[in-house]
Amino acid sequence: MTGRPEVAVLGGSLIGLTAALVLRDIGCDVHVYERSQVPLEGRGVGIVLHPVTVRYLLDHALLDLATVSTSAAFHRYLAPDGAVLVQAARRHHFTGYNTLYGALLDAFGRERYHLGHEAVGIAQHDGRVELTFADSGTATADLLVAADGISSFARRTLLPDTQQRYGGYVGWRGVVDEHALSAETVSALDDALTYFAPPGTHALTYPIPHYDGAVERGKRLMNLVWYRNVPDGEPLAELLTDRTGRRREVSLPPGAVREEYLEELRAAAVGLPPALAEVVAGIPAPFLQVMIDVEVPRMAFGRVCLVGDAAFTVRPHAAAATAKGADDVWALAAALARCDGDVEAALRAWEPSRLELGRALLRRNRDLGEGAQFRGDWVPGDPALTFGLRAPGDSADMRVT
Ligand SMILES: Cc1cc2nc3c(=O)[nH]c(=O)nc-3n(C[C@H](O)[C@H](O)[C@H](O)COP(=O)(O)OP(=O)(O)OC[C@H]3O[C@@H](n4cnc5c(N)ncnc54)[C@H](O)[C@@H]3O)c2cc1C
Repeated sequence: MTGRPEVAVLGGSLIGLTAALVLRDIGCDVHVYERSQVPLEGRGVGIVLHPVTVRYLLDHALLDLATVSTSAAFHRYLAPDGAVLVQAARRHHFTGYNTLYGALLDAFGRERYHLGHEAVGIAQHDGRVELTFADSGTATADLLVAADGISSFARRTLLPDTQQRYGGYVGWRGVVDEHALSAETVSALDDALTYFAPPGTHALTYPIPHYDGAVERGKRLMNLVWYRNVPDGEPLAELLTDRTGRRREVSLPPGAVREEYLEELRAAAVGLPPALAEVVAGIPAPFLQVMIDVEVPRMAFGRVCLVGDAAFTVRPHAAAATAKGADDVWALAAALARCDGDVEAALRAWEPSRLELGRALLRRNRDLGEGAQFRGDWVPGDPALTFGLRAPGDSADMRVT
């Protein structure tokens, strides 16, 4: 590029950092503004890897996947009594949020990564974007990349009519030490992404690295997600009211779920296959995420764009939301380079394919979720149920050397 656009990235999580790195590499002058006062950690526990999620780190030889990821060779569907209904050979790789975040932050460095900067104002004038922060400081740039997540301030400012739509169920999540599980359970879950998917609910487990980074069998964490229907209105509002009486919007972190709901969860787990029931019983602090869809009509607004969860928030069934966000920012860099740094032209050229990808992924996830939770039409082993970004299965068989 002949120009050197100044770029402000809002939100310093996985997609904000990926944007910062990819845009810096094509010659942009990048600063990241993150609301949190401290580096992020412990979010989202397990991430199913997709090639584009780790493209920057692999291209720059900054991550050795063999040492920071776990894998499973099979998709295994269990019957209520624990018998194996179907098993298909399909390999996926998993890592933890902290591993990816730490590697991206190390690559970007701390000098231009500004913690404690919560944006409370966005304005565009005279060919520049101005951000105002809660502490009343400001920053200006030629381009603002808003990667501020599911409750995006940028989205609320630019698209005030866009709503979050509740999907009718929540995802209970948690991890348990592999070494705390019985030999029968370890063997039932061995080397597999293990599903239980009777009509009206579904649960899955897979191994992820331990908090200390251990990836060897027996030293990892077993990660569980169990999707359970909760009617909208009072039942959902009650569930989302935490131990201090505060009503949360989209998630309850570990330690926040009220005891009566944890008791109900553990009691309901007796209906799961024995191995999954043991995992649920062993999770020290289950937490939950509300399944919502956010669909945006636009992602480009002059010199501002929405990327990652700030644009489309999708359900996790295709395990591709991080991949979608990373794909957004790689496409942005390509558009900027093609338009020789003309920010507005680049965003106009970039937007249509992004909207198309976001809509397609949102539709596929919604259909998967409704199939399991409401239509009850999942066919165990169906390849259409496989994780992937553009198509089921495109995240399988990553090259890990
Ligand atoms: C149950 C479940 C399982 C999942 N599993 C997977 C998976 O296997 N694979 C996968 O690819 N994805 C998965 N996801 C999705 C994945 O976690 C998210 O898509 C991804 O983390 C989004 O990254 P992001 O950077 O866009 O947003 P976030 O990670 O939400 O980051 C947004 C950042 O913006 C900051 N911020 C917010 N407002 C402001 C403000 N006003 N000013 C400054 N900063 C601000 C926040 O502090 C935060 O750090 C899963 C999600 C769920 C719910």
